[in-house]
Amino acid sequence: MTPTASAFPSPRTPRRGRRRTPRRGRRLVAVGVAASFVLAACGDDDEPADAEPSESSDAGKSSALLIATTVAPITSIASNVIGGRAEIVGIVPEGTNSHTFEPQPSVAELLSDADVIFINGLVLEEPTKELALANMADDSVLVELGDETIDPDEYKYDFSFPEDEGKPNPHLWTDPSLALAYAEIVRDTMSEVDPDGADEYAANYDEFTACVIELDEAMQAAFATIPSENKRLLTYHDAYAYFAENYGFEVVGAIQPADFGEPSPQEVADLIDQIEAEGVPAIFGSEVFPSPVLDQIAAETGGTYVDTLRDDDLPGAPGDAEHSWVGLMRANYITMTAALGGDPATLEEFEVCGVGTDGAGYPQ
Ligand SMILES: [Zn+2]
Repeated sequence: MTPTASAFPSPRTPRRGRRRTPRRGRRLVAVGVAASFVLAACGDDDEPADAEPSESSDAGKSSALLIATTVAPITSIASNVIGGRAEIVGIVPEGTNSHTFEPQPSVAELLSDADVIFINGLVLEEPTKELALANMADDSVLVELGDETIDPDEYKYDFSFPEDEGKPNPHLWTDPSLALAYAEIVRDTMSEVDPDGADEYAANYDEFTACVIELDEAMQAAFATIPSENKRLLTYHDAYAYFAENYGFEVVGAIQPADFGEPSPQEVADLIDQIEAEGVPAIFGSEVFPSPVLDQIAAETGGTYVDTLRDDDLPGAPGDAEHSWVGLMRANYITMTAALGGDPATLEEFEVCGVGTDGAGYPQ
């Protein structure tokens, strides 16, 4: 059980052999040779597939594909796989609360023009999903990446995402192995929507995989320097549940209630008791969710309060290398390692990699 070998799956092998077969009929079935290419619409929504070779199908599409995505990390992952073959437009502005985000009605136009709409799913972006379903073209595809990456028995629920509200913790993208599963779904979806680009998507995916493996190795080496008794996470916004399991951290608590309000005085008092009992070295806030409660908790417990974790707000500015999912992981795990008493040198030395310059549209 060496840490470098165990936590990360080999490329293309979904963790724990999970299936990513479609559960909503949205996911496309892999087509071997071009023989029976029926555009994205095949089998969707139990409608009879439009198998007639209509003049409007792939010929006009592959030249100017438009891809809509939601949160910035997903936009970046998609961009790594798609490269320059399509225009990619994110919907959720960075720095906003993606969990409560309501798209402007004007987003309907983008969604109606999009050939593929990649969302996280796991009930994160319901208003955007509803707008997509109401406006998307019959032959376009909506892909819920999270739903296709893990099975319901792997969903995580907790204080911030209680099971009785039916919204699992949606943050798969903070775990590189799961982000890589997202990339694989993007590759497969795009290869079916745009078969002429399949080789390019495959090459981009392979390059991204190599990059993610390097990132993973740097993360594991950095985490190995954290005293084991410190590998416990108390976060405000609960974005690390899946990551923690895969990388040997324990989430001892999350502070933000399910309604995204502030915790009650009693809940704060309980947390302070818990922190003092367990000696949690640091409390992690998020730039997107400033909270006065964290200051209070840190002051009363003497813990370090770190408010620079980013849930889905990429570092730097659009166009910068660090303004990417890889850059986000690097920044967050440097912060986490240092605050928990480890040495983040391997992550600091890790150079942000990825496919080309990110030309995707990131609303700010
Ligand atoms: Zn979040």
